[in-house]
Amino acid sequence: MTTPSLLILPGDGIGPEVMGEVRKIIDWYGAKRDMPFDVTEDLVGGAAYDAHGVPLHDDTMAKAQEVDAVLLGAVGGPKYDDLDFSVKPERGLLRLRKEMDLFANLRPAQCFDALADFSSLKKDVVSGLDIMIVRELTSGVYFGEPRGIFQEGNERVGINTQRYTESEIDRVARAAFELARKRNNRVCSMEKANVMESGILWREVVTKVHAESYADVELSHMYADAGAMQLCRWPKQFDVILTDNLFGDILSDTAAMLTGSLGMLPSASLGAPMENGRPRALYEPVHGSAPDISGQGLANPIACILSFAMALRYSFDQGDEATRLEQAVEAVLASGARTADLMGPEGGTPMGTGAMGDAVIAALDASL
Ligand code: NAD
Repeated sequence: MTTPSLLILPGDGIGPEVMGEVRKIIDWYGAKRDMPFDVTEDLVGGAAYDAHGVPLHDDTMAKAQEVDAVLLGAVGGPKYDDLDFSVKPERGLLRLRKEMDLFANLRPAQCFDALADFSSLKKDVVSGLDIMIVRELTSGVYFGEPRGIFQEGNERVGINTQRYTESEIDRVARAAFELARKRNNRVCSMEKANVMESGILWREVVTKVHAESYADVELSHMYADAGAMQLCRWPKQFDVILTDNLFGDILSDTAAMLTGSLGMLPSASLGAPMENGRPRALYEPVHGSAPDISGQGLANPIACILSFAMALRYSFDQGDEATRLEQAVEAVLASGARTADLMGPEGGTPMGTGAMGDAVIAALDASL
């Protein structure tokens, strides 16, 4: 079997700091689980702009298309705020998503028991929460034409177009059903079929894909506004939520915040299967480059570590090892270890980025 390949793009700000802890974990898997990875590291965002004058070099883009998975830290920072739009750090990330055609964005919302008090909701509503939002990422109202601000008579009109083809809905629906089979086998599809034709088509195609290929998975439908209410009322009713780009943008942020700190949230963006059967994939923490704390060793590396756990599960078919890593994180939190972003009003001494990474390694050792 060939060694799985991983392109690491630490990026800017706290990106390299949190990625340093993931590198320790990758090394641990090589040394202790006989799971070596062929790791290449390269530049993205402001770091790539500083070196090459572009936020993503063509060679890096080509590497991203070849490897089994890409793991990204974060991009951006005040130093780059005045750059031309075309070379802003974020353009590097957008290019990766676009050229890899990453149409399914996976955003888990998982509440570790030790952090249940962090939620703005009551503890019994969020404790043990484990849901996954699958958001369509490459189409819908953010991309549909016509778009723009036009003159109409004596006033201007702003136009965006919600547009979905059957094949775009079909492929993201399949991604959600496949995922549900690896979880608790339930998908709730959310749209606004009551007021939008694109929502009617969405519901029709999801229903058809389900009947034809995934009848073993439980499927329900919900209007997205009702879904938002249910997410706040009783989020544990959901397993996988499938939704479009616009509603997914809002619902995934809502769901994420049910669980507390930005420093805890991983994500994956998946595309079509490559020749080896693995999906094209980019894994990254939800947070940005956190310029307010970068360079101080204060960043919480858990979002990036959990992004690697997602890579183990969805790119490398190592679900048991992903669970091992997630349980190691859970054990560390349960022991009371906290980075500064996880300190409650009761205070205490926060641990730094490196100490948190080491604690996860110790918990992995203890799992053997
Ligand atoms: P941010 O996520 O970087 O930070 C928001 C707040 O959360 C800050 O107070 C920060 O200190 C804290 N925070 C974030 N991650 C943390 C972690 N791992 N540990 C501890 N605290 C953490 O968002 P922002 O401040 O709005 O943006 C900063 C820069 O990052 C901007 O240039 C923005 O464009 C960029 N950004 C990049 C991405 C990405 O790379 N995917 C996403 C969002 C923002």
